[in-house]
Amino acid sequence: MACLKCKSKEFMNSFCKKHFIENIERRVKRDVRQNSLIQKNEKLIVKDPLCRHFIEDVLNVPVEIKRSGKGREVLLWTMDDELLEFLTALFRGRKHKRPAKNRIRLFRTVNDRELEAYANLKRLKFSRKRTKEEKGILKEIDRLEKEHKETRFSLLKSIEELNRL
Ligand SMILES: [Zn+2]
Repeated sequence: MACLKCKSKEFMNSFCKKHFIENIERRVKRDVRQNSLIQKNEKLIVKDPLCRHFIEDVLNVPVEIKRSGKGREVLLWTMDDELLEFLTALFRGRKHKRPAKNRIRLFRTVNDRELEAYANLKRLKFSRKRTKEEKGILKEIDRLEKEHKETRFSLLKSIEELNRL
């Protein structure tokens, strides 16, 4: 398969390396902008290098980055985290909790596999430890995704709608 944008060799998601990076960055930017995840001149607590890279080099928002103290914390939180939190609560019959306002879930629109590939291309570290139960759920989502490409995005949309209720 060739890249949808430039016909170069495919790296992932029908994009070459360059356009894959562009796509991931665009998705995070769009989410931050559309949902006002980060405010201008805000004090943010950022501990993870991948989050730091996005805030400093990708999103063009002037903010103050700190490692601790007062301010909202930017979490290394992927789309898979979002889905797992929702689905495990559902399976256990617990009520869905709305996300805390003092934490920013930066990578809600990017799944584990994509973020790992992105981090590798940027020579940054990313690894996510998943429990046996979580791995089982993700495997099931992957299986669904073979038939319905938009499974993760549709689930994410439903979660967002629930959060708005
Ligand atoms: Zn390309």
